[in-house]
Amino acid sequence: MPLRNAKPVTGRACVIARVQPWQHLKRSQLVIWVAIVTGLLIVLTSTEFSAAKPVNFLAATKSHPLPISLNQWQDLTDSGDYFDRVKLTEVGYLIWSQFPIKVYIDDTQVETWLQVKAAVKEWNSYLPLQVVEKPDIADVRISFKTPPLGTKVLRARSALTQYELYIKLFSNSASVLAHRCTIILSPNQPSKYIKAAALHELGHALGIWGHSLVASDALYFSQVSNPPRISPRDINTLKQIYQQPTLLGWKVESK
Ligand SMILES: [Zn+2]
Repeated sequence: MPLRNAKPVTGRACVIARVQPWQHLKRSQLVIWVAIVTGLLIVLTSTEFSAAKPVNFLAATKSHPLPISLNQWQDLTDSGDYFDRVKLTEVGYLIWSQFPIKVYIDDTQVETWLQVKAAVKEWNSYLPLQVVEKPDIADVRISFKTPPLGTKVLRARSALTQYELYIKLFSNSASVLAHRCTIILSPNQPSKYIKAAALHELGHALGIWGHSLVASDALYFSQVSNPPRISPRDINTLKQIYQQPTLLGWKVESK
């Protein structure tokens, strides 16, 4: 679709945000987490944090090997990317390093469940994803309910993606900084937008923590009348993200 003809659907937007650790974290995990947050805050307050460029504390971050599927990806159309619009978080880029990424779809409606499953399958071509039956082992949880309205948000939300940080403890006593994502999709939207919304929010959950300004990208900032599939620009952006350093997936000291 020519961009000039792509009309955003007014009143619908998604929100991406950070949330507090889940309540079922063990006390020992929370203690470690508080220690990490405190350490990060000390560093952050001693530097001029900017979302536009990496800051000093990120010198401690490291990149992970590029996933095979992204490594093999080649854009024959030379479509460019929107990496400069991806936000840097307090732990670097939101990168997964353990695959497959486990996705739980909390929905009892077969039709909408299948639409979300189709969105998972589309992203699975670029990063390994697996739909799981148990929510407690999921890296990404997707559910249907009305996303909350914020006081500073005037228009209705159609979706919400949040991430939270936690410490993953392994049997060999290793502690790794990890993250989990929660996606909320509004049930109050036409069915044709369900898959598009899931596709868009999964893009955030996989690490594209920002929005495109081009309507033919799945991560365009608003819904359009004819929702796009995942674009080469989306994957070019994702590939760049996965070559960046992060604190996620690396061991942390529990002093
Ligand atoms: Zn979004």
